[in-house]
Amino acid sequence: MKSFDQKREHTHSYYAATANDVTDFAPLEGQHSADVCVIGAGFTGVATALTLAERGYSVAVVEANRVGWGASGRNGGQLINGISGLDKIRAKHGDGIADMLWDLKWRGNDIVYERVDKYGIQCDLKPGFLEVAVKQRHLGYIEEYAEERQRQRFPYKYEIWDRETTRHNLGTDAYIGGFVCYRDGHLHPLNLCIGEARAAERLGTRFFEQSPVTHIDHGSRATVRTETGSVDADAVVIAGNAYSLLEPKYLSNLVFPAGSYIIATERLPDELAQEINRKDVAVCDLNEIVNYYRLSADKRLLFGGACNYSGRDPVSIKSYIQPRMLKNYPQLEGRKIEYEWGGKIGIVVNRIPTVGRIDSNVYYCQGYSGHGVNASHIMGEIMADAIGGTLEKFDLFAGMKHYRIPGSQWMGNQLIALGMLYYKLRDML
Ligand SMILES: Cc1cc2nc3c(=O)[nH]c(=O)nc-3n(C[C@H](O)[C@H](O)[C@H](O)COP(=O)(O)OP(=O)(O)OC[C@H]3O[C@@H](n4cnc5c(N)ncnc54)[C@H](O)[C@@H]3O)c2cc1C
Repeated sequence: MKSFDQKREHTHSYYAATANDVTDFAPLEGQHSADVCVIGAGFTGVATALTLAERGYSVAVVEANRVGWGASGRNGGQLINGISGLDKIRAKHGDGIADMLWDLKWRGNDIVYERVDKYGIQCDLKPGFLEVAVKQRHLGYIEEYAEERQRQRFPYKYEIWDRETTRHNLGTDAYIGGFVCYRDGHLHPLNLCIGEARAAERLGTRFFEQSPVTHIDHGSRATVRTETGSVDADAVVIAGNAYSLLEPKYLSNLVFPAGSYIIATERLPDELAQEINRKDVAVCDLNEIVNYYRLSADKRLLFGGACNYSGRDPVSIKSYIQPRMLKNYPQLEGRKIEYEWGGKIGIVVNRIPTVGRIDSNVYYCQGYSGHGVNASHIMGEIMADAIGGTLEKFDLFAGMKHYRIPGSQWMGNQLIALGMLYYKLRDML
């Protein structure tokens, strides 16, 4: 079984152009052994490997392309609390686990802050994530966010912004209010991913790049195979998310890849950067089909949006995204767009990550429906716990029912495109 894109270098993103360090690990050749073999070196794979390495496991990570090559090295860099679908898990298990789920929501942020500090990772991490209201009903969500934090005695700073404060802080009339949480934030995702991989490497983890996994032989020790080598291990973690086509019998059509796209402007003069994002926070609107944006450390506007379910990338990402940016920020007319890129988000129909085990020792974890920076770090810990025999949180996710949409993983799907049309219409109402 082949993966989507094989043996590629990084895409031409702003992140790849400003990476502190580009990894160049040798491909997998010959036979290797490890306690755990992880397939895929995005946040899920790297976070799992680092957690296991910290706990003393010997780990081998096999990546088709480069560390952080997939969604993890291309995303909006918005560090957002929560795992989508937790409300459904709570509905199934009852209020008895509400506190545990609340803590779980924030665990990924905690891990990122701890690791950036512990391993000295330079990834421009800054506090502040702002959700902005476009419609009246969004103001209701904002009230709920504040009420929930009050109930839980949330120890970190958060604010509700009225229309005028939002206009003043964002330099646009597009929004009628906002909710900003300073335990969320934003960062350079490729530098975080590579920084964590380097930390795992220092703890003994072996990385192999340019090595697409073609097959897994199951057994009490499973064997992960590429065209030129193999790793046998007590446990395997499949962390290829929207880019993986491994184990089709169990995993096909559980996650469907949706394209999301970002443009980066030239560096903006300080006064203009200040005008459009006075508090230097990550911004995302509360529509179903979102626009998301933030300033980079060198004061470019990174503006992302759209979700393309057709399976085909737009001919010009700039022409697709720039009009959305200019609608909010006509003052950026004439500013050069210096980077444009896209990536695949792993979407799950019921929005709960698909987590489970095949043959008791091959674990998988995928589908964060666009909120993976935090969620992948939580899942990395849950995978490592499960491998160590602590299954409480793993079982919560593994026990959830999922639906398959035939054909979605391979070529996009008209049914999904139709579903998204419904959400677009909802946004317009
Ligand atoms: C444009 C865009 C913007 C986004 N913005 C945000 C955001 O602002 N905030 C947020 O929280 N989330 C965001 N997301 C989602 C987030 O990036 C993902 O949820 C997260 O990065 C998923 O991490 P992952 O490690 O599971 O998958 P990936 O990062 O996609 O990594 C999977 C890796 O597995 C490798 N692989 C696949 N198959 C094989 C194989 N057979 N053999 C070996 N290796 C294989 C791939 O090469 C890839 O490197 C965004 C995503 C995109 C695309």
